[in-house]
This record gives sequence, structure tokens and C-alpha cells, in this order.
Amino acid sequence: CRRLVLVLGDQLDADAPALEGFDPAQDRVWMAEVAGESTHVWTAKPRIAVFLAAMRHFAQALAARGWTVDYLRLDAAGNPGTLGEALAQAIARLAPRELVITHPGEHRVLEMLREAARGAGLPLEVREDTHFFCSLPEFAAHARGRRQLRMEFFYREQRRRHGVLMDGDQPCGGRWNFDAENRASFGHEGPGLLVAPLRFAPDTLTQEVLDLVEARFPDHPGSLQDFSWPVTRKQAREALHDFVTHRLPEFGLWQDAMWTGEPWLNHSLLSSAMNLHLLDPREVVAAAEAAYREGRVPLASAEGFIRQVLGWREYVRGIYWMEMPGYLERNALGATQPLPAWYWTGDTAMACLRDALTQTLRHGYAHHIQRLMVTGLYALLLGVDPKQVHAWYLAVYVDAVEWVELPNTLGMSQYGDGGLMASKPYVASGKYIQRMSNACKGCRYDPARSTGEGACPFTTLYWDFLIRHEPTLKNNQRMAMQLKNVQRLDDAQRQQIAARASALRHEGAAK
Ligand code: FAD
Ligand code: SF4
Repeated sequence: CRRLVLVLGDQLDADAPALEGFDPAQDRVWMAEVAGESTHVWTAKPRIAVFLAAMRHFAQALAARGWTVDYLRLDAAGNPGTLGEALAQAIARLAPRELVITHPGEHRVLEMLREAARGAGLPLEVREDTHFFCSLPEFAAHARGRRQLRMEFFYREQRRRHGVLMDGDQPCGGRWNFDAENRASFGHEGPGLLVAPLRFAPDTLTQEVLDLVEARFPDHPGSLQDFSWPVTRKQAREALHDFVTHRLPEFGLWQDAMWTGEPWLNHSLLSSAMNLHLLDPREVVAAAEAAYREGRVPLASAEGFIRQVLGWREYVRGIYWMEMPGYLERNALGATQPLPAWYWTGDTAMACLRDALTQTLRHGYAHHIQRLMVTGLYALLLGVDPKQVHAWYLAVYVDAVEWVELPNTLGMSQYGDGGLMASKPYVASGKYIQRMSNACKGCRYDPARSTGEGACPFTTLYWDFLIRHEPTLKNNQRMAMQLKNVQRLDDAQRQQIAARASALRHEGAAK
């Protein structure tokens, strides 16, 4: 063929730059399912399934246009198991004159494909990914000359540049940010009656994928019994409409709240559809803004949601590509503890962690505060090697693609980059979890206690963290309040905390 257009599992957009100028008479699309992408981290079943099901539906949609798709199935005879080798085989078979791809979402994959192209002596044209509001050169221009990057400044620049939630040159409502109104908890009453989010029962094609994943990866974590993620563009658009209608109105208020047994609350559940490129962030932002302008959604909710998509999502991508490949190796706090084995099963007596882990393995989903302030926080306090934490997050979530997962995990949640993503480590004791959820009520531990019988492991490890890292953090103004309390601890208290923290580390490592 003339041109071989490479389409990866997270590039499922018929308008992707790589497909521009596609001539069905002489070009081909190449897509490949390879086991290596599910085993380089021990990928959970829901994540494998969401990628494969969406890829197969996309290939079907392209074929329905009359385009030839050279599609390698996971169970095809002779499947070599890695993207690089699969591409080399396709090149040998199809003898293309050139290769074209939209910029991949993972540095490792880009390098692997470049290597395969080099090996075949073929040019690989990498086209800028227009899925994002902010191109990589634009982000580099934003970062240039700044001593410190901060999401808030980037976000305001994006609002102005794209005219989002603006009244003339002023932000709607006279404020850029309604963050302070996004931190409510459910108190004792709980979230009340929630409208269940729209879920999508597997069709025949998806069911085939679910059977394949069970057969091929039986010992991988997670379960497929509830699989109902959107895997087509049509479903993704329905999911967007469902969110804007039913959950966006109260999204802002309950953004940070948690409740056991309630995985979805007011969240959008749109991250996997966006990260697979079934949904364009522009249409997502436009739908939220329109709902506000039509009076269906309060400004604090629309702004809170848009900040995540137009702000955080674009910002972390910029950081990833600016910092890779070195970013993966960063470990500012020198953390070396192994990830407790029960992260892969949910088998722990800590009620908050059990709830967050169980729902993660069952659905491939947890919302931001569960990821940051429950699973992420515990790993940070325990002192787990950030690379191991990263491998877990990349493996278990249906929305996990490295450009977004790595800065959130290694940077925001583990402080592994020493303050590039977050201006201070996100550390808190069990009391934070008590305030934001009902988990502590059903737990054998007491969030108010750091030592002695029934002390909450979060609370013990919180104090231990502050004691251990006091020398590194003492110049950080934003840590001053928290560190001041450490100075009040006497030697006996410090020793008890250290002893219990050490026991928790041994338990974590032993399981
Ligand atoms: P909502 O709460 O409804 O938020 C709306 C959208 O905003 C999301 O769909 C997402 O696209 C975007 N968003 C929100 N927060 C962030 C953020 N911090 N960074 C980037 N985008 C954001 N998000 C992923 O998409 N993939 C990941 O692999 C991922 N890993 C994470 C790991 C850790 C340790 C943490 C703390 C966060 C991670 N996030 C990741 C960000 C965030 O938790 C998820 O985007 C969100 O929970 C997805 O659920 P939702 O679609 O219901 O989000
Ligand atoms: Fe989690 Fe501690 Fe509360 Fe138990 S007491 S649910 S471990 S924060």
C-alpha cells in the first residue's frame, strides 16, 4: 500500500490527524491487539476489555466506510505479542511507502514504533494530536521562562484563549475559581437517592472481548461481571448527555465527597471515553457551558467540572511530555517500600481502603478523591516506591493512559517530582477521611488515634511521615501549619509513632 496509518487503542477518533488525507484506494489503517500492552503492567480485566472492545467497534465503523483495516486480533495465529514486532510483520506483508501516526499517549509506545520504523527503513510521520485544546508547542511556550508552573495560571490562560466561561474579557460570575464551594461532605445523611448513571450492556462484539479476556488473562486482577463502559462514539455521547442532565447540577458541591458502596456519586464517568478519544474534550466543555448558560446548572458546578477537563487534563499532559522520559525515574522522597499485595485484592481491614480497592477492581473506576486521598495517600504515607504505585494505577483503571496517569500518580499523589505538580505533598490523617466519608463508622480503627490499640494506620503514618520528612519540607511555607504540630510531639510520642509505623510497614511488605 501507499500509506499505512497506525491507529492505537487510545486514538479512536475518525477525525484524528493521522487519518487526514486517507485514500481508501491506496492506503490502509493498521490496528493491533497485542498481549504485551496488557502485561507490561499487570493490567486489570476491565481495562483490557475497554480498550479491546472500543478498538473492535472502531475498526468496524471504519470498515463500514469502506476503508481497509489491517487488524491483528489478540488470538490470531502468530501474533508476536508486542506492538513493535506486530508492526514489523505488517510492514513486511504490506510493503507501505510511509507510516503515519497521531502522536501516541505514551513515550514508551512512541519509541517502540519509531524503532520498528527505523528497522524497516521507513519514515514515520508523527502528527500533532489535535484532540487536546493545548498543543505541545503551546504548552512549552506557556512553561518557558516560568520558574514555577501552576495549574491555576495555565487554566486561566486556557479560559481566555478558548473563550470558555467568559463574559467579554472577564470570567463568568466575576471569579475564575469556585474551588472553595467544591469541598462539601455528605455529613451523616449520606448522598440520598442517586439517579443511577447510564450504563451500556455488552453487545455481541463486546461479549466476545469479555470472553477473550477471561480466557487469555484469567489470573489478572479485577472482574468483568459488571462491565458496562461506553465503547462506541454513540454510547460516549449518550453518556455525556446523561451526565450533564442528571449529575452535573450537583457535581460542584459533592466533588470531593465519598460514601461507601456508592462509586459514582455525581461524577461524570467520562474519563475513559475521552482518553480513548471517543469524545472530544471540546464537546464535553461546550455541553457543560451550555447547560450553565441555559440555567440548568449552577456556575460553581459548571466551572468545577470545566476546570478538571480544560485545566487539569491538559496541564498534566503538558507536564508529561515536557518531563519524559526522566519523569518516570523521579523519587524525591526516596521512597522504597513495596506496594502491599492487598492493593490487588482489596483484602484489608481498613474500611476506606477496602471500599476504594473493591470498587476499583470491580469497575476499573474510583473518583479523584478516592485515588488521591485514600489509595494514593496510604501509599505515600507508607513510603511506597513511586514506580510501583505508578504500575498499579496504570494497571487498574479503565481510563489509565500514561500521559494522564503518571503525573497524577507520581507527581500529584506521591510527591515523587518534589513539587512540580503539587506545591506540597497531599498528606492528611484519618480524620480527613472521617470528614469526607462514612467509612470510619464501619471500621475497626479510630481515626483520632495515632498510637495504641485501634489506632488508625493513616493517622499513625501521617505523623510518621511528617517526622521523617520534616528536614526536607521545613522550607515549604505551605507545610508550616502541619509541621508546627509535629514540634509539639514529645520524644515518647515520637517513639511510639515510629514503632507502630514500622510494624505497619512490615505488615504491608509481608502480605
Ligand atoms: P470527574 O470527576 O467527572 O471529572 C471530569 C473529568 O475531568 C474527568 O473525566 C477527567 O477527564 C478530568 N480530570 C479530573 N481530574 C483530573 C486530573 N487530576 N487529571 C487529569 N484529568 C482530570 N485520570 C485519568 O483520566 N486517567 C488516569 O489514569 C488517572 N489516574 C489518576 C491517578 C491518581 C493517583 C489520581 C489522584 C488521579 C488520576 N486521574 C486519572 C484523575 C482523575 O482521578 C480521573 O480523571 C477521574 O477520577 C475520572 O473519573 P470521572 O470521569 O468520573 O471524573
Ligand atoms: Fe480508613 Fe482509618 Fe477511617 Fe478506618 S479509621 S476507615 S482506616 S481512615
